[in-house]
Amino acid sequence: MTPTHIEHIGIAVASLKEAIPFYETVLGLECYAIEEVKDQKVRTAFFRVGQTKIELLESTDPEGTIGKFVEKTGGGMHHIAFAVDDVATALKEVEAAGCQLIDKAPRDGAEGLKIGFLHPKSTNRVLTELCGKK
Ligand code: ZN
Repeated sequence: MTPTHIEHIGIAVASLKEAIPFYETVLGLECYAIEEVKDQKVRTAFFRVGQTKIELLESTDPEGTIGKFVEKTGGGMHHIAFAVDDVATALKEVEAAGCQLIDKAPRDGAEGLKIGFLHPKSTNRVLTELCGKK
């Protein structure tokens, strides 16, 4: 498993409405999609920066992962996502290499992509996501 690029960087925010203007007005990026991901209890907003995206995450449930993160930290850098061809295979490979997983199998992420998270204990404390078409 070798990631092809950084698919996106996930940033937790208290409010998409309050966070989006920085990316649009200050950085001049365009928010091209806002999507709710029920499984993760978030609404996401996406910006393209070359091959990489910025994924803003707003909680839809205070008990969800992002809700708790924003409550505790006020929000900020949340995770980094690497693009891989096949998430299921990549998860098996990193587990075989000794990495602890949060997701043993891929689940549905935003933009119709499959995703799987690796445990920060195994990734130098950086929540790491693998992201791909299958
Ligand atoms: Zn993500």
